[in-house]
Amino acid sequence: MSDMDVIIIGAGVAGLTCGCLLAQRGLKVLIVEKNQKIGGCCSSFQKEGFSFDLSVQSLGECQEGGRIWNLLRKLGILHHLRFIPLEPAREYHFPDQKIVQSSQLETHIEHLSRVFPDQRKGISQVYEVLRKIFDEFSHVPSSLNWFDPSSLSSQFPFLLRYKDQTFGQLLGEYISHPFLKTILSIRTSYALLPPEEISVVGMAGIEMSYFNHGVSCLEGRVEQFPLAMGEAFKGMNGKMIAGQEVEKILMNKKEAIGIKLTDGQELTGKVIISNIDAQATFSTLLSEDSIPMAYRSKLKGMRPSLSYFILYLGIDGSLEELSISNNEVFPDDQISQEYQALYENRIPGGAPFYLLAPSKVNPSHTPEGKSTLCLSMKAPYHFSGGWAQKTIDELSEFLISRAAVLIPDLRKRILVKAEATPKTIEKWTGNLSGAAYGWAQIPSQSGIHRLQRTTPIPNLFLTGHWTSPGGGIAAVVASGELTAEVIWSKFERGES
Ligand SMILES: Cc1cc2nc3c(=O)[nH]c(=O)nc-3n(C[C@H](O)[C@H](O)[C@H](O)COP(=O)(O)OP(=O)(O)OC[C@H]3O[C@@H](n4cnc5c(N)ncnc54)[C@H](O)[C@@H]3O)c2cc1C
Repeated sequence: MSDMDVIIIGAGVAGLTCGCLLAQRGLKVLIVEKNQKIGGCCSSFQKEGFSFDLSVQSLGECQEGGRIWNLLRKLGILHHLRFIPLEPAREYHFPDQKIVQSSQLETHIEHLSRVFPDQRKGISQVYEVLRKIFDEFSHVPSSLNWFDPSSLSSQFPFLLRYKDQTFGQLLGEYISHPFLKTILSIRTSYALLPPEEISVVGMAGIEMSYFNHGVSCLEGRVEQFPLAMGEAFKGMNGKMIAGQEVEKILMNKKEAIGIKLTDGQELTGKVIISNIDAQATFSTLLSEDSIPMAYRSKLKGMRPSLSYFILYLGIDGSLEELSISNNEVFPDDQISQEYQALYENRIPGGAPFYLLAPSKVNPSHTPEGKSTLCLSMKAPYHFSGGWAQKTIDELSEFLISRAAVLIPDLRKRILVKAEATPKTIEKWTGNLSGAAYGWAQIPSQSGIHRLQRTTPIPNLFLTGHWTSPGGGIAAVVASGELTAEVIWSKFERGES
C-alpha cells in the first residue's frame, strides 16, 4: 500500500467525504482510522438491547437538494439511507412558557413576528444577514485568496462586513426586546458559546444549515451514514486501515511524504490530509522544528470548543409526556450566565440541559414498549470535580431530577444507563479536550480567520471541524468537499 496518491488520517465524516470524492476521481486513496469503527463523532453504540447515538442527534442539509443529500446521491448511496424530517425541529422550555421552533425558516420568522409584532422587521433583517452570509460562504471557491480584499468585497460583501462581529452585536443592531434576543440566541448553544462570543459567520453556519433543507435524523442508527460512506469508498477501490493509529507524519526535507503507524509500518503518499485534531497533527504527529514558529504560536493561542456531559437512558414505557423528540430546558431566560461558570471549570447548579427522546422518532432504537432518552449539558474538560465516578453519578442524578419534572416516574422507569464525559469524547475521537466542534466559533477563529485547509508544510492539508467552515456534520461534509477540490486541482495541474 505504499505510494498512494492520497493518505487521509482519520475516518471522521470529513475524511470519508474527502476520501470518497478523490477515490471517485480515480486517485489511489488510503484512509487510516485509529478505532475499529469509522465515523469519529458520528457513531452509535448498543447496550442491553437499546441503541444510542453517541453524539450526533440531528442533521441539517439532508433533504432533497441539501449538501448531504447531494453528496450521498453523487456517491450512489442515497437509497441506503432514509432521513426523517423533524418538524417542529425542537421545543424550548422556559419556566413560564414553551417556544416551538419550526424547521422552516419562513414559518419560524412568522411565528416569532406574531409573538413580537413590533420586532417583525428586525427578525427578518437578522435572518436576512445570516442567510446572505451562509449563501456567500457556500459559494466560496476552494481557491479564493481570503487576504485579497478586492475579491472579498466584490463577491462576498456580507462575509467581509461581518467577519469580525459577534452574533450579540448583530442582535444589538436589529432587536430591542430582551426575551426575543434570548430566543434568537438559543441556537448559539449548539456551538457551545454565548451570543456575545459566537461570530455572526459561525452562527450563520449553525442556524442556516438547519433551515436549509430541513432538520432531520437518520432512520436507524446515525453511524449508518459513515458506514455507508466507508462501503462506497471501498467500492471505489479506496483502501481503509481501521484499528491502527497514525503515530507520525513522515517528512523529507520540509515536505510531508507519508505516515508511520503505531505498529511500525511506514506508508508513503503524494498528499497527506489530516482529519484529526489540529493540535495533535502539529504537536504529536510532527516535530516542532518542522513547523514555522508563527504557525506554532498561532495554534497555541487558539481555543477549542467546549464539550458535553451526556447521560443515555433506556427506559420502560413510551414517552407520551413529550410532544416532540428534541427539547432544551432552561431554568430562566438568562442563557449566557452559565458560561462564566463553565470557563471557571464548573457546571452551575441551574444549568440548562438538552432532553432528547430519540426513540420517539426512531422506534428501532429500543425493544417493544421501551424508550430512549439522552440528557446532556455543556461541560468543561477540566471539570473542577474531576471526572471521577462520583462526579459522573452526581451529574447524572442532577439531570435525572431535572428531567423528572417533564417525565413523571422517570427514576423508576430507568432500565439502562450509560454516560459520556469530555474525556470519553476525547478518547474516542482524539479531539483536544473533547471539543465537540473543533475550534470555538469566535470571530478570530471563524470564516476567513479559521485555520486554512492548506498548511505551511508542502503536501500536508487539513479537513474537518478544525478547519473551515467548522463543526457539525453538514459543515464537515463541506470541508471534505472543499479539501477534495483543492487536492484534485493539484493533481490536475500535475503538481503531485
Ligand atoms: C456530543 C456531540 C454532539 C454533537 N451533536 C451534533 C449534532 O446533533 N449535529 C451535528 O451536525 N453535529 C453534531 N456534533 C458535531 C459533529 O459530530 C462534528 O463536528 C463532526 O462529526 C466532526 O467530524 P470530523 O470529520 O471533523 O472529525 P471527527 O469526527 O473528530 O473524526 C476524526 C477521526 O480521526 C480519528 N483519529 C484521531 N487521531 C487519529 C490518529 N492518530 N490516527 C488515526 N485516526 C485518528 C478519530 O478516531 C476519528 O474517527 C456533535 C459533536 C459532539 C461531540
